Amino acid sequence: MTYATQPEASHFIDGAYVEDDSGAALPVIYPATGETIANLHAATPALVDRAIAAAQRAQPAWAALTGTERGRILRRAADIIRARNRELSELETKDTGKPLQETLVADATSGADALEYFGGLAATLSGEHIQMGDDFIYTRREPLGVTVGIGAWNYPTQIACWKAAPALACGNTMVFKPSETTPLSALKVAEILIEAGAPPGVFNVVQGYGEVGAGLVDDDRVAKVSLTGSVPTGRKVYASAASGMKAVTMELGGKSPLVIFDDASLEDAVSAAINANFYSTGQICSNGTRVFVQDGIREAFLDRLAERLKGVKMGDPLDEATNFGPMVSARQREIVEGFISQGVAEGARLVTGGGRPEGEGYWIEPTVFADVRDDMTIAREEIFGPVMSVFGFSTEEEALERANATVYGLSAGVFTRDLARAHRFVGRLQAGSCWINTYNLTPVEAPFGGMKMSGVGRENGQVAIEHWSQLKTVYVAMGEVEAPY
Ligand code: NDP
Repeated sequence: MTYATQPEASHFIDGAYVEDDSGAALPVIYPATGETIANLHAATPALVDRAIAAAQRAQPAWAALTGTERGRILRRAADIIRARNRELSELETKDTGKPLQETLVADATSGADALEYFGGLAATLSGEHIQMGDDFIYTRREPLGVTVGIGAWNYPTQIACWKAAPALACGNTMVFKPSETTPLSALKVAEILIEAGAPPGVFNVVQGYGEVGAGLVDDDRVAKVSLTGSVPTGRKVYASAASGMKAVTMELGGKSPLVIFDDASLEDAVSAAINANFYSTGQICSNGTRVFVQDGIREAFLDRLAERLKGVKMGDPLDEATNFGPMVSARQREIVEGFISQGVAEGARLVTGGGRPEGEGYWIEPTVFADVRDDMTIAREEIFGPVMSVFGFSTEEEALERANATVYGLSAGVFTRDLARAHRFVGRLQAGSCWINTYNLTPVEAPFGGMKMSGVGRENGQVAIEHWSQLKTVYVAMGEVEAPY
């Protein structure tokens, strides 16, 4: 590791690092070894107040810049991130345990994509003109004001940028709270935005546990909250935001189906199932963890999968040859192991994995269950770890019904060479992101978000602008005003 992991201070407020030792201790652990790589403090209520006040002060001048000016700063930040990709990726690997092979291509870079994309869109924001005879109406697209972003621990840089980029493009300012498990990279995003020319206070980071997030959501000065997290947290945050009539975006959990028909390319389907379950050690909200394989190819699929899993290389995540990292924390590993035990106890067939490799750190083997029934715990609940459940099915109608039989609706995938069937099937899937003959591709150009319990609103794509701005309607009368008396 070439770079220091201990940041200058825990928080980034009003353009500068800020420390307050009186906040609760927040140690940062490298999941591959269990060693402490930084010691931070949670924000006190006074610091949260200071961050919101800074964002509030900065907002009018930020919104008064032209979109081109705001966009230029965001695009410059994207360039800086790309230039420092290796350093940022190593930090992300230390923070999350994800292999460098992944973080080099999927974390800081996808944050940079968001800053570049919304930086480009900033100059295009506009309202509309509606002619009403001689009178006319115009609409102004205005920012919401001070916004709050709250992140999960699986994609810390990406989540910070996916929220900050559209928010800032629209003229809002933001206070961002990373997950306490992975607090380091959002500080880098804040630092880089300042280096790119963002005025102090436009993007602030405060650390802390859930109560810091709750304090931010409760604050009357905040106009919008965007959360990436679990459904239980989403419920609390949505309820609290509702009492203040705040806008929300909720990016929550999933239990997504990946449906593989007999006529699919077996090799591609196996590749997709691997990506959909084991990338980032399975810690991805949109993962296709319920893999439905049509009866005719199920055994062939399982055989090929077992063969391909021999290519898993666990080891030092900073070694670019490593392709499978540890779980993010001891706690998450315990949760996942609990689900694996339950799967075995409820009668699912453990095809591979399920154990802990030797050594330090929070490792767990990639795990595949077959003969899973829809009513088993591992078939219903989000595991958020490297555990794939394989189910059989015979007909399209049956697959559809079972794929949709979940409270979640984040993502879904279908593999078939029959494209008419693929489109027909996707048309009836209850999921915000669907893939045909691939899985988990989420470029910034594509709207992303969940149906049902998986969320509210969309991130990314042009539609994100609707979620980070509001319209003001202005009616302009050109003639006399008529009145009844
Ligand atoms: P959590 O829901 O536990 O936490 C999410 C964030 O919310 C954390 O920063 C957490 O702080 C904070 N928080 C906790 N309680 C409150 C509260 N009452 N008010 C405000 N903020 C609060 O999720 P995880 O971090 O464990 O992440 C995993 C979950 O995230 C999975 O369910 C996964 O599916 C989902 N996810 C969804 C994605 C999507 O885009 N749809 C993408 C990635 C993950 P702290 O960590 O300090 O407790």
